[in-house]
Amino acid sequence: MNIHVITLFPEACKAYTDASVLGRAQVAEKGKGAKQKGVQLSVNYYNPRDYSTERHSKVDDKPFGGGPGMVMAAQPILSAYKVAMPRAKKNTRVLMMSPRGRKFDQAMAKELAASTDNLVLIAGRYEGIDARVKEILGAEEVSVGDYVLTGGELPALTIIDAVARHIPGVLGDIDSLEDDRATSGITYTKPVDLVYKKKHYPVPEILLSGHTANINAWREGKPLPDPKHVLKRKK
Ligand code: SAH
Repeated sequence: MNIHVITLFPEACKAYTDASVLGRAQVAEKGKGAKQKGVQLSVNYYNPRDYSTERHSKVDDKPFGGGPGMVMAAQPILSAYKVAMPRAKKNTRVLMMSPRGRKFDQAMAKELAASTDNLVLIAGRYEGIDARVKEILGAEEVSVGDYVLTGGELPALTIIDAVARHIPGVLGDIDSLEDDRATSGITYTKPVDLVYKKKHYPVPEILLSGHTANINAWREGKPLPDPKHVLKRKK
């Protein structure tokens, strides 16, 4: 998947997408990461400021009809889009970050990962983006939650992160992708007995029992198929 992000803050976003699993996946795509070769992910950035035809690279202006703040002008964004997508390509989706958009969720993340080759994300700033951008590019407005942020960068990064982990090879361990992991948030690691401010916090005994069926049932809050197995282990 080729992801194209149109943002006034490319460096801030790039710092995140170049780190951790997203960074590794992009390196792998360039053929440097032997272990993950074949992963298909690239994230590219386009700053509307670089494409503004106005004096002083101006990217915003006052809203027609009055109102507070400034609005991101269409021209620099449309020009940035043209650099990102010089030709129309099939399986392209254009998402405009907006607190009033369709709510982004896991189903949409999976759907995008499965069906999109070119994902364009437009991050707004100020009071938002000139409405004609949406019309001209056939963009879908997407919200990451019922709150208003100062810009579309975190929403764009959220979408990239959630979508990328469904691209085969992005996660080192495909087992981590199981959807029920998202719901069973109970995890422990070493030490078996954590001491904090003189109090003991032991790992639940059942997780040390080695009985997979019992452990899975316990994680899901269901009755244990073999409860005696645990009791036997108790001292
Ligand atoms: N008064 C404006 C506020 C815009 S916030 C309004 O009501 O639309 C500035 C930019 O941040 C938006 O253009 C959008 O790109 C982004 N943004 C803010 N909150 C968001 C959210 N919950 N989901 C997606 N994008 C958001």
